[in-house]
Amino acid sequence: MSKTANSERKHIIFTGKRNSGKSSLVNRFIGQDLVIVSDTPGTTTDPVKKAMELLPFGPVVLVDTAGIDDIGELGEKRINKSLKEIAKADFAVVVVEAENILVKNELLLFDHLKNLEIPFLAVINKSELGINYNLVEQLDEKGIKHFSVSCSNNEGISGLKENIAKLIPREIEPLLIGDLVQKHDLIILVVPIDLGAPKGRLIMPQVQTIREALDEDTIVMVVKDKELRAALDKLKQPPALVVTDSQAIMRVSADVPDHIPLTTFSILMARYKGDLQEFVRSIKYVDELQNGDKILISEACSHHAQEDDIGKIKIPRWLRNHTKKDLIIDVRNGADFPENLSEYKMIVHCGACMLTRRAMQVRIKEAKLNGVPIINYGAIISYMHGAIPRAILPFDEARSEWEKIK
Ligand code: SF4
Repeated sequence: MSKTANSERKHIIFTGKRNSGKSSLVNRFIGQDLVIVSDTPGTTTDPVKKAMELLPFGPVVLVDTAGIDDIGELGEKRINKSLKEIAKADFAVVVVEAENILVKNELLLFDHLKNLEIPFLAVINKSELGINYNLVEQLDEKGIKHFSVSCSNNEGISGLKENIAKLIPREIEPLLIGDLVQKHDLIILVVPIDLGAPKGRLIMPQVQTIREALDEDTIVMVVKDKELRAALDKLKQPPALVVTDSQAIMRVSADVPDHIPLTTFSILMARYKGDLQEFVRSIKYVDELQNGDKILISEACSHHAQEDDIGKIKIPRWLRNHTKKDLIIDVRNGADFPENLSEYKMIVHCGACMLTRRAMQVRIKEAKLNGVPIINYGAIISYMHGAIPRAILPFDEARSEWEKIK
């Protein structure tokens, strides 16, 4: 069974009206009854996710959502949850009923997907009941691709899977490290094993960097910060690149001679999941913060807080020391990304290793729409420790952004 993390899988959302057969279709897709199906409208309340291999495309997550025509106060909340999931999706399957024509909220849904630039397909479900010609005409008029299936008879499902596998965008995503190194380069990864390190394992950005470096046929050396100097002394040739945990950047920077490129895992994550240029651009707002300004610290997962937790303790402390201002710090975890961003003066985001790239891009877009500068841990930690010029040196666009603001 594939172990690809959900954050590295394309997310396919199943949306549409209540009782259109979204959950039945998800069950047919995965070949098992994951989602409870009933004729009662509104059976699916919270989004339900299931990872699978969609051949020949690869690893995906199917997301079943509540109907976009849900009713009542609770229904409205469910619709909002579904809309949030839709915004993060890489592809949308809009399930419509074969017997009916499109109604207002379905038409709005198609417009919404177009505005969000999410590729989608309409699936005409319940084809065993006969397909309404006017429905097909409506979809054709709007230029919406459609495909008919019958979940009851299991007809059209494998063809639909093949179609979706072809339609999911295969855009070229940024690399973590692959474009910074060449075959047989030696790279050193500095991984402090301190109280903040999880017991018995490395964290995801470290693991992903090692894997990508191995894929590029480089030679990878992993050391703790305390052993870095000894490791460098043993080498006949300098490494092509050193990557360190952000929190050790000052110590590591002192040990690594200036001619050796040095960056941090968080800076690598900033361009892999986020927008390094945007984060560097936001640096200038750090020194404009005033007493009473509210800062959002957003972590994309809900890990157990450590004694000297980076998000809850260290970054707030460093920020207050750096700015010498009495800042209000609001730490949010997991999916709890506030709707009202305008009350914040700055958003400081974690590396987002548990989010898909699209989901992180949505957060950046929301920040920009609200006029709130957004920066990630890597950029702000390196800046507050005076190491940003060195940490972004390998990245041309980020470097020129820094030249503009320094
Ligand atoms: S806080 Fe962010 S970067 Fe750290 S593990 Fe969680 S998702 Fe990944």
